Amino acid sequence: MINIVIFGPPGAGKGTQAQLLAEKYDFLHISTGDLLRQEVKLETSMGLRAKAIMNRGDLVGDDIVVPLLSRALQYRTTHPDPLNEQDPWDKEIRGEQHRPEGCIIDGFPRTVQQAQTLEFLFTRLKRRIDLVVAIEVPRDELVRRIHERAAISGRADDTEEVIRHRIDLYDQQTQPVLDYYRVSGLLVTVDGSEEIPDTNRRICKAIDLRMGRL
Ligand code: ADP
Repeated sequence: MINIVIFGPPGAGKGTQAQLLAEKYDFLHISTGDLLRQEVKLETSMGLRAKAIMNRGDLVGDDIVVPLLSRALQYRTTHPDPLNEQDPWDKEIRGEQHRPEGCIIDGFPRTVQQAQTLEFLFTRLKRRIDLVVAIEVPRDELVRRIHERAAISGRADDTEEVIRHRIDLYDQQTQPVLDYYRVSGLLVTVDGSEEIPDTNRRICKAIDLRMGRL
């Protein structure tokens, strides 16, 4: 099983690429943004706490994000036992009979502290991160893309002011995570400024190379 982290600023196309890779390689796609949006939609206590923070474009606290991710990693990559009838997560995975080839994490880590937490979570599952793919896109192009997405996504955090704030936060808090992974030799950077299939080809090349070496 190969474990990949997909990394990049808002608008880099992490979610889109992660989904394409999940289909092509039979990977699980775990997106902390999606997990949080699900909690907001279901109006759970975590969701209610996260909603205003997300709408401002700030980072949701680790006390919310980490348990969500931990649960998703555990439930979705090992055999869940026992199943809880009331839990939407359990319902979702009940149809999954096969073990996936790997997992792709999108939206986490966003801080160096989260990178350390992720390592801890993987160690606890007796697994490790095999590859970190960072998608690089110039800032002007990011703003342009998020504007375009805002027209269709209806996401409350896709307004001009919030978008700039999210990119600033990425530069301040998330960019240092790249150095963390660069040192460990896990990092591959990919040009994401062109079309979706171009970026996808570059990422697949990096994954195939790494898988060949595993
Ligand atoms: P984007 O990459 O465009 O910012 P995401 O769907 O990854 O979109 O995240 C949306 C929002 O969810 C973030 O702005 C943040 O408020 C929250 N979020 C997602 N992942 C994390 C995380 N790892 N830590 C803290 N907050 C997070």
